[in-house]
Amino acid sequence: MASMTTSKVTRWDQHGREHVVRVRKSGMQRQLTCGTCGWHKAAQFLPWLKAEEHLAEAHQATVDPTA
Ligand SMILES: [Zn+2]
Repeated sequence: MASMTTSKVTRWDQHGREHVVRVRKSGMQRQLTCGTCGWHKAAQFLPWLKAEEHLAEAHQATVDPTA
């Protein structure tokens, strides 16, 4: 599980490519930015979950290299 101090979410796709969504604190919200496609989103709750969802849906990247 991601900890509260995690500032990025990294997942690998089935080709072994790395995709990273950075999580930046912005006031009450977190700003998510995908390094692969430039997708970004503001999230107040569970930003890491939203980052994981984006990585899975947009990039089929579901492998957690830290798991
Ligand atoms: Zn993306």
